[in-house]
Amino acid sequence: MSEYFSVSEIFGENVFNDAVMQERLPKKVYKKLKQVIEEDREMDLETADVVAHEMKEWAIEKGATHYTHWFQPLTGVTAEKHDSFITAPMPSGKVLMSFSGKELIKGEPDASSFPSGGLRATFEARGYTAWDCTSPAFVRQDAAGATLCIPTAFCSYTGEALDQKTPLLRSMEAINEQSLRLLRLFGNTTSKKVTPSVGPEQEYFLVDREKYLKRKDLIFTGRTLFGAMPPKGQEMDDHYFGAIRERIAAYMKDVNKELWKLGVSAKTQHNEVAPAQHELAPIYAEANIAVDHNQLVMETLKKVAGRHGMHCLLHEKPFAGVNGSGKHNNWSITTDDGINMLEPGKTPHENIQFLLILTCILKAVDKHADLLRESAADAGNDHRLGANEAPPAIISVFLGEQLQDVMSQLISTGEATRSLKGEVLQTGVKSLPDFMKDATDRNRTSPFAFTGNKFEFRMVGSNDSIAAPNVVLNSIVAEAFSDACDILEQAADFDEAVHDLIKEQATAHQRIVFNGNGYSDEWIEEAERRGLLNIKNMVDAVPALTTEKAVTLFEKFNVFTRAELESRGEILYENYAKAINIEARTMIDMAGKQIIPAVIKYTTVLANSVNAVKAAANEEVAAVQTELLREVSSLLSEAQDALKKLVDITEKASAMPEGRERAICCRDEVKTTMDALRAPIDRLEMIVDKEMWPMPSYGDLIFEV
Ligand code: ADP
Ligand code: MG
Repeated sequence: MSEYFSVSEIFGENVFNDAVMQERLPKKVYKKLKQVIEEDREMDLETADVVAHEMKEWAIEKGATHYTHWFQPLTGVTAEKHDSFITAPMPSGKVLMSFSGKELIKGEPDASSFPSGGLRATFEARGYTAWDCTSPAFVRQDAAGATLCIPTAFCSYTGEALDQKTPLLRSMEAINEQSLRLLRLFGNTTSKKVTPSVGPEQEYFLVDREKYLKRKDLIFTGRTLFGAMPPKGQEMDDHYFGAIRERIAAYMKDVNKELWKLGVSAKTQHNEVAPAQHELAPIYAEANIAVDHNQLVMETLKKVAGRHGMHCLLHEKPFAGVNGSGKHNNWSITTDDGINMLEPGKTPHENIQFLLILTCILKAVDKHADLLRESAADAGNDHRLGANEAPPAIISVFLGEQLQDVMSQLISTGEATRSLKGEVLQTGVKSLPDFMKDATDRNRTSPFAFTGNKFEFRMVGSNDSIAAPNVVLNSIVAEAFSDACDILEQAADFDEAVHDLIKEQATAHQRIVFNGNGYSDEWIEEAERRGLLNIKNMVDAVPALTTEKAVTLFEKFNVFTRAELESRGEILYENYAKAINIEARTMIDMAGKQIIPAVIKYTTVLANSVNAVKAAANEEVAAVQTELLREVSSLLSEAQDALKKLVDITEKASAMPEGRERAICCRDEVKTTMDALRAPIDRLEMIVDKEMWPMPSYGDLIFEV
């Protein structure tokens, strides 16, 4: 375990990155490829052929025998089909290893086995994967050997997006174009490209693999469907940032090493709020690369856990009543010459460009709060949002004292004349340095917080791709920029027009700003008074995708067509119903085959004890056993009734046609019956002899990793 390695030597060693390309490709080809990557030019076959050949040679040196078009269909996980490099045997019986430009650029997996939400019926079964040369290819080494992975987009025969990446790339073009328009208005003539930067912080749980394998709920659904709270939960706050234990440290070291080899800049690691919960954050990257890297992070976390005798749970709520897992999506927009457009500077009140951008973002988030909420919706996240240390389901923006103060000045007088300053933080200890504190404290309860020079969208679920939230962010901000430019480009007096626009936007959208405690009940009431949406579950979030407002937005910037949006809505309903259906069936299986039989055995033990004690003494002496037997039997019959109901209702839901109706039935009937089954069983777990309980408890799982 204590093997030594040099980070700078291994970093990116399995990535076909710029350095490798520069070294291996003929100058002319390298230049062409760079133009394609940086200036969105088209790729020609001749260039692709040379790149493919060099990529293959490089990959073979790393031990690769196969290549795959790596893509992200709407199943939530990545997909790949492996082809080996070998050609048909020659007359001599030998084979060659070949990889053509055509094979690099285009693949043709069978689209019919991936969700298409009706697009398949309307259009064609054919689907194509197309090389995304803006995200570098990499070699992945695992038990299957080594494979050259080529990040690709996945589209239908007629060009409809069937994946996460296609709309993301389209939204990046939109924000690039509109941001440049805005920058030009402020006299910037040098920036050529604007890209969203994204840094996702990934939370996860680790449990012991042996114990994991004893829980069907964890195996089939990724979360516990039964489980009583242990006597000690997270109330002591002793895990957050606590010292990392040996077993976990060895695991993290291995994860980092794997990720560094893949060029993922894993940077921060720490224990999280709940016992057995941890976090990994990379250094931010261009949105597209960040999305791909986050998929690699999730894959690697799971893969490496197996090697360490553990299992990694990425579910948003693996344990009821315990802190859930999310993904903080840090987002900003940066120019190719290094300007972060969300940098307020020391005196934000004087930074007119920043104030315009900020109020545009407020407008975007206020107008499209439903879309942002939808982008973070999945069946697992329904358990997390609004519960135990997770943002509420209400979208609001945290600005902090300094910006809030500037906003208030703007709204009340139309003019901002001062910015609050950071003060010296006095530690009161001579040997400790006094340092300047930030002008704004941190806030951890807001779903969308300004954190210095970026926004942090904290609603995203831990298991979800971060593509959808970034598609929405890029698109809604592009729209607000576009609206602003439409006005300002026509203005006779730019200074006056921009001043008016900032004030107007700050005033019109101040309701979305909230700097208080987002976890409090008062906020829920206050938000309602302000007319902010509180969309409590995924089923209610999906319609946001197909409102006229959403269709207009996405069509304007060529991110989604109406048909694509409708198909995504259908897929989301299907995914939701499938997730609940699997959970219900797993509960039925566990309750029927494991838990109820165990409880029955326990009642026999109790009954025998009652009889034996009665025979030895009298009824009075057997009172405790009798009382227990009554209590257990009553809970047992409650559980048995709920189980029968769950069987019926699950069958009813499965027989319904796919779509919204079924999703609603799953939410309102199946899920409530699942709760009704869980309640008596969790109480039984507290009573029944631990030796007889058929699976590891919460305590076993989260305190003994
Ligand atoms: P915290 O836990 O306090 O929110 P972390 O340091 O764990 O902060 O994570 C912050 C994340 O934000 C990191 O992934 C970091 O790279 C990313 N980040 C920093 N600056 C930017 C930026 N300008 N744009 C996007 N992401 C950023
Ligand atoms: Mg954070």
